[in-house]
Amino acid sequence: MTGLIWGVTGVFFSIMMAVTAIPGLRRRLLSKPLFLILRKKMPPVSKTEREALEAGNTWWDAQLFTGKPDWSLLQDLPIARLTDAEKKFIDGPVEILCGMLNDWEITHDRFDLPTEVWDYVKQNQFFGMIIPKQYGGLAFSEFAHSQAVMKIASRCTTAAVTVMVPNSLGPAKLLLAYGTESQKQYYLPRLARGEEIPAFALTGPEAGSDAGAMRDTGVVCYGTHEGREKVLGIRLNWEKRYITLGPVATVLGLAFKLYDPDNLLGNIEDIGITLALIPTDTAGVSIGKRHYPLDSAFQNGPNWGKDVFIPIDWVIGGREQVGNGWKMLMQCLATGRAISLPALSVGAAKFICRNTGAYARIRTQFKLPIGAFEGIEEVLARMAGLTYLMDAARQVTCAALDDGQRPAVISAIVKYHLTENMRRVINDGMDIQGGSGICLGPSNYIGRLYQVIPVGITVEGANILTRSMIIFGQGAVRCHPFVLAEMQTLIEADEQKAIVEFDRLWVKHVQFFICNFGRASWLGFSRAYFVKTPGDKVTKPYYRQLAKLTSSFAVAADFALLILGGKLKRKERISAYFGDVLSYLYLCSCVLKHFENQGAQEEDSALLTWACQYSLWQAEEALWKALALLPARVPATILRSLLFSTGRTCTAPDEHLISVLAKKLLNDNSTRERLTAGIYIDQRSDDSSGRIEVAFKAVLQAAPIEIKLREARRQGKLTEQDWLLMVREALQKGLITEKESDIIHAAEIARSKAIAVDDFMPEQWV
Ligand SMILES: Cc1cc2nc3c(=O)[nH]c(=O)nc-3n(C[C@H](O)[C@H](O)[C@H](O)COP(=O)(O)OP(=O)(O)OC[C@H]3O[C@@H](n4cnc5c(N)ncnc54)[C@H](O)[C@@H]3O)c2cc1C
Repeated sequence: MTGLIWGVTGVFFSIMMAVTAIPGLRRRLLSKPLFLILRKKMPPVSKTEREALEAGNTWWDAQLFTGKPDWSLLQDLPIARLTDAEKKFIDGPVEILCGMLNDWEITHDRFDLPTEVWDYVKQNQFFGMIIPKQYGGLAFSEFAHSQAVMKIASRCTTAAVTVMVPNSLGPAKLLLAYGTESQKQYYLPRLARGEEIPAFALTGPEAGSDAGAMRDTGVVCYGTHEGREKVLGIRLNWEKRYITLGPVATVLGLAFKLYDPDNLLGNIEDIGITLALIPTDTAGVSIGKRHYPLDSAFQNGPNWGKDVFIPIDWVIGGREQVGNGWKMLMQCLATGRAISLPALSVGAAKFICRNTGAYARIRTQFKLPIGAFEGIEEVLARMAGLTYLMDAARQVTCAALDDGQRPAVISAIVKYHLTENMRRVINDGMDIQGGSGICLGPSNYIGRLYQVIPVGITVEGANILTRSMIIFGQGAVRCHPFVLAEMQTLIEADEQKAIVEFDRLWVKHVQFFICNFGRASWLGFSRAYFVKTPGDKVTKPYYRQLAKLTSSFAVAADFALLILGGKLKRKERISAYFGDVLSYLYLCSCVLKHFENQGAQEEDSALLTWACQYSLWQAEEALWKALALLPARVPATILRSLLFSTGRTCTAPDEHLISVLAKKLLNDNSTRERLTAGIYIDQRSDDSSGRIEVAFKAVLQAAPIEIKLREARRQGKLTEQDWLLMVREALQKGLITEKESDIIHAAEIARSKAIAVDDFMPEQWV
């Protein structure tokens, strides 16, 4: 059967090649009719869609679309590192801040950060991490920014979100990219010093995911400002909601639709989305009311503006930037979304891995640490593997950003996958914690994190939308070597010129497809055994699988684009599966790079293996599903049988890894330290996570003595059944020393403290 398929395909391609070899014939018989059909079928692309598509640039994602990535591009990417000043900040002010944070007090008693924390954050320039030194900021790299947010998030999400927002998509970032020099001179030093609290207001009641549908308006007119009459400006009316830091903001970055009915700025009436900076004490602005986002206490709320008059120079970038708001937002989002939420997600995942892993060692049931049970081992292994994968993506992506890349599609990939995997890791942690995770109180270190998961999932591009529309939808256009250029010819006014260019492009596109098709079929058949890739004996098998799947992905994506064209926008499930393939290929690339960046530590090879096997398996599964969903069933089935001519090759992570990885979290070792590096580790025995850290160390110290005692009991040298009575008996019989007895008692005290759960008197229930 496979032979017949090869034969038919060969004949088909031979005829195609004969026609395409004669340019005049090809242009008349193929290119022109095809051009006219496609031009008619091409769905209208709105200005906001076009600006979103064009935001940022492409990087490794574009290599994946070629089907034959240039590995040197990934290998040559410098490792993300902190400068001395950045390291000093993270070991100093960030460490001190974390020590000041009491999550329960913040989320339950105060529903806000304490005044001393607000002051500390402002005075130590936490709001100015991305602001250059010349404006008084810290001028941190994206990696340093990510490390800071990650560490704070491992302590308290309220504080992490509060610090994150001014450094993320907000006034400072927009001013840096588009502000006039006088706007920068005025605002940036004030933001860096914490004298201004910024918020960015885009979302409104009718405009959530479809933010471009906002009903907030500005009308160009003359008005009175600071006693001056006939000032050219804008009269604004808006209603926004969900705005982080909005209730306490001193300056609001506002997105609105600008109209110029009297043509005061030119001859365009509907100018488009515009951004302005508005001091919140301006007449007509209402802030202060708060939402209640799932028991997290960061400031978030609605705000309104009624007939607010602002001078035209409050528009970010001044008069020249009116109508460019959407483009400005999309450009900033292209990088911003790769930093803050991924850092927060990794901080949470590392924190849970470290503490829940330790808890599984401390907590005993059926006379054994619960981590020794196979059921728990499986969950622990998944937590460790996912956290490694997430951190790899975070670090490699930050390195790319610091190297000058602005990869919009990759930023969507890391935002989506890191927040989703944070959800999985926290859910797993909750299952292991059992009742101690469920009962909230000052000692519970995981419950609040569990509650706050949906915030990360929803903001900066809600996840379902990001997966179903953005990743492949934008990827196919931006990263594909020909699609964007072909689309541009279809909207070109000069038809003759457009056809010539279209003809040149599609021929190259077909050649590209044929080469990829041949390569993908060969790699499928040979299982990529002979392909040249980087790597050593540990990593090479995964590089090969990656090469094979990348090649298949490129062919399948091209095929889907050919079959669906503009309809892909509505075929969200197909788009989502292709997006998953692209995402997991990217994640696997990051894992390999991260492993090598960390010196290819042999002790970490189980993490590498798990993360590679998992991501390749997910990529293959998604590709399989995408091909099964494509409408042209006959060619899609033929394609699938050629790409998978020797069957599916990627499987779920090996079973033997489960126990190996679980033990990494259940014991003190260098892999555990590397996996959880960069988070805040509390050492106080009365702290919610500090008590786990203290007990973990104490329990590990007591472990060899416990083994000695159990052995003595097995040999009949000890008769007491109760554990502490047996320890006393062993001491009396000289089987252990006084010091060893103390170690066991200390471990017992630490253990009971670590498993204690808060309870409250009814009168405390306020
Ligand atoms: C705690 C918090 C903080 C926030 N901070 C800010 C802020 O500082 N500034 C600001 O401007 N905004 C902020 N937001 C708003 C946030 O960006 C929006 O909530 C988000 O854009 C989603 O909008 P929505 O909640 O109205 O959901 P909707 O747009 O109503 O979406 C509901 C669901 O439908 C899905 N969906 C929508 N369209 C599609 C589609 N085409 N295909 C598939 N699925 C789709 C979404 O993925 C989502 O799952 C914040 C929100 C929250 C909750």
